[in-house]
Amino acid sequence: MFMKEVTYSSTRGEGSKYTASMAVLKGLASDGGLFVPDHIPALDKTLEELSEMDYRGLAYEVMKLFLTDYTEDELRSCIAAAYDSKFDTDEIAPLAESCGSYYLELFHGATIAFKDMALSLLPHLMTTAAKKNGLDKEIVILTATSGDTGKAALAGFADVPGTRIIVFYPKSGVSPIQEKQMVTQRGANTLVVGIHGNFDDAQTGVKKIFGDKEFAAELDKKGFVFSSANSINIGRLVPQICYYVYAYTRLLKEERITAGQKINICVPTGNFGNILAAFYAKNMGLPVGKLICASNTNKVLFDFFETGKYDRNREFHVTTSPSMDILISSNLERLIYHIAGQNAERCSELMAGLSANGTYSINDKEKEGLKDFFGGYADEKQTSEQIAKVYKKSGYVIDTHTAVASYVCDRYKAETGDDSPVVIASTASPYKFTRAVMNSIDPAYDKKSDFELIDDLSRLSGTEVPQAIEDIRTAPVLHKTECEVDEMKNIISGFLK
Ligand SMILES: *Cc1c(COP(=O)(O)O)cnc(C)c1O
Repeated sequence: MFMKEVTYSSTRGEGSKYTASMAVLKGLASDGGLFVPDHIPALDKTLEELSEMDYRGLAYEVMKLFLTDYTEDELRSCIAAAYDSKFDTDEIAPLAESCGSYYLELFHGATIAFKDMALSLLPHLMTTAAKKNGLDKEIVILTATSGDTGKAALAGFADVPGTRIIVFYPKSGVSPIQEKQMVTQRGANTLVVGIHGNFDDAQTGVKKIFGDKEFAAELDKKGFVFSSANSINIGRLVPQICYYVYAYTRLLKEERITAGQKINICVPTGNFGNILAAFYAKNMGLPVGKLICASNTNKVLFDFFETGKYDRNREFHVTTSPSMDILISSNLERLIYHIAGQNAERCSELMAGLSANGTYSINDKEKEGLKDFFGGYADEKQTSEQIAKVYKKSGYVIDTHTAVASYVCDRYKAETGDDSPVVIASTASPYKFTRAVMNSIDPAYDKKSDFELIDDLSRLSGTEVPQAIEDIRTAPVLHKTECEVDEMKNIISGFLK
């Protein structure tokens, strides 16, 4: 069957066109832009046909349209290796109904956060891409993490032949459970390093190393090449489109909606990757009305949707939903490119403003391109109250990030009167943020230890403690390396002997 090839180019106009597999390998365009598809392909199966498929079958039907230079065999075996028994349910991404909304549970993978949905697949897409393109080097994934990405990337790349992964995290800037998850990581190709600095220091250090041409040449001689597992990689974005299509088709299969009926999608947002995937799903023809973008106290996106002005010059708040504590939402750049009419020159000009002054403003015509979005936010008190409210009404326990979305979703319904079915992206298991979750339900829980709280949560919610949590109760610490920010390069050289 004829399928139109999708090529990828930079949001900033560097000009070259890349195949999907080359875009996956490169991660970021050489002008600092993000790879975007030259067009968004339409679904080529009906919603009824898709609703008869399981997660793997459906994921193939969606991804084949974007990753057009992968063969059917290649793509299907990547998918089979990713969505297997690492997930604790065969549904992979089940839907739970509570208080009139549908929660799309994206946390059933190895590290119990939604990053697993893409990071279980990315290593396979990448090693396949290396083979296809005759790359004879070992791929070294460099990652700076504020908590969730690091562990999900480690779990995805551990023991994958032809790859190594190095993760830098702020030694005093992640939750105890997040740190324990990372430093207990197995796999001879993994290295986890706590740096004496904050997340920005780690991220800046990693970006500097990516840009160090001499260092790259030195490593090239030794047979290594760097790549990125951060959410700017198109290989992370594409797998995320699938679960929105999956959610729609499950509602259809269960006769909760009719084919063609519009649903709304509400996403707790940080780097804008997850909600951008929902935007792509809508543009593939999935019947979606509003894309509801939920922020925490760091509400730079809410303000942007209100005013058309993006302004990162503001106080940074540390919240109970740390994976959304972000002032520069990298993937928004892709949306800007699309609403500017695929105009890389204009996108590049706005991004230059962002890096020089921390701010840019879009014009009225571009603002029209945002009409499918609704921005909202929840502060710390509203987030905490939402966890208690949902639990008391239905017995369902949601994590802090999901609670931000749940609150904004209720506000949206009340403000607009729009009663279309809503799918809320549930991005983390409550077990990952147990203390904040349990304190929201009853402040008296704060006296207990982390592991006591985990057992209490299990009793309260009637759910089993996930394997990821059981594992770290007893797992030995395997990574003890710490370093100063200016020692990161030496640490890498040492590991790549
Ligand atoms: C990463 C993350 C988010 C934010 O997703 P983006 O794609 O960066 O917008 C939300 N919730 C959790 C639990 C996360 O780990």
